[in-house]
Amino acid sequence: MTADYSGTRKLFWEDPFLDTFTATVLEVREIGEEVWGIILDQTAFYPEGGGQPTDEGRLGEAEVLEVLEEVGVILHVSDQPLEIGSEVEGSIDRGRRRDHMQQHTGQHLLSRVLVDEYGSETRGFHLGEDESTIDLTKELTDGELALVQARANALIDADLPVTARFVDRDDPAVKAARRTPPDIERVRLVEIGDIEAVPCGGTHMPSTGQIGGIHLLAGGTNKAHGLFRISFLCGDRIRRRLAELDRMTADLSRTLSTSPGSFNERVEDLFEQNRDLQAEISEMRRALIPLRSEALLDSAEKIGAVRVIVARIDDLPPETLLPLASSLTETPDVVALLGARVADTGRLVFARGETPDLDMGALLKEAASILGGGGGGQPDHATGGGPQGEALDMALTGALEQARALLTGT
Ligand SMILES: [Zn+2]
Repeated sequence: MTADYSGTRKLFWEDPFLDTFTATVLEVREIGEEVWGIILDQTAFYPEGGGQPTDEGRLGEAEVLEVLEEVGVILHVSDQPLEIGSEVEGSIDRGRRRDHMQQHTGQHLLSRVLVDEYGSETRGFHLGEDESTIDLTKELTDGELALVQARANALIDADLPVTARFVDRDDPAVKAARRTPPDIERVRLVEIGDIEAVPCGGTHMPSTGQIGGIHLLAGGTNKAHGLFRISFLCGDRIRRRLAELDRMTADLSRTLSTSPGSFNERVEDLFEQNRDLQAEISEMRRALIPLRSEALLDSAEKIGAVRVIVARIDDLPPETLLPLASSLTETPDVVALLGARVADTGRLVFARGETPDLDMGALLKEAASILGGGGGGQPDHATGGGPQGEALDMALTGALEQARALLTGT
């Protein structure tokens, strides 16, 4: 053990590939309901920090859900308490850590290439579940990003060593580093060959070759808060993404019955066909209105000198309610009380011809309230509805009864 730090001994600094270890339980804190914080004398668990997410794994029977660092002391957030003073076997999720090491080391390399090639400095780094992002001071074109990717991959092919060492804060190597360290005396400097040096407490691959490739995601850029964000994948994530995309492409190729090179053309054709069909359907629906109008007039109920039509128009699209009502009320003695069920809601259009002495606005307001909604309009024409579509029949029957009462004066 070196004397370069105090608190929990950080085995992940000594060997980033160490995934099993033995440690002594120093302290156990109950930090929540059925959640404990366990402090060990040493650990291979990397705590969340520097853009690299927490390790996960087990301490004996306990599951480690999260790992945090508080002034050099590492807290293993776990689902079980452990006995103070006991020895415990720890094991970290190796695949998760390996993935983090690839993405994190890739970020160091990318940040260096970005600043070297275009003077674009890294202001933020986030290692996400699927993709990682870097926030930059300077925006780059697609062409520039392609060059950055090629340069970074060439440095991966060169398999440069990635090392970490502790140096004094006033060491010239620290002064030359890509980022100023926090206010500490001894600085952990992570270096890539002689091209890159940066203070960092994370875990890294021992050489650039093990990053396994860098891919900048097309369409993964955006600007926010004055910074330019790029998204990228490293190593195994590239292979996984390629497998996913390959499967999706093959599926789509079957669905569209064409090769990937013709996807755009095929989809444009389909959009155009769809537009034509929609136009045709609209025309046919308009053509149906006079026919439906006639049938509804035949079914009208005669109340005094007025013909009242009450109907649910669920089979036609809701936008046909209005033209249908207009068509019906071209006949002066007609009152049309139309409703339609649209998904779970109910829609109403009430209209009348010139002669009936009925206020459609008032009639509709009351019917819409049965649907739990509202609406309104003119004495001869009103629209509305409400969320309780199941009460549509009740609303229409209520409106008919009211109309009958008003027309017969009862
Ligand atoms: Zn690092």
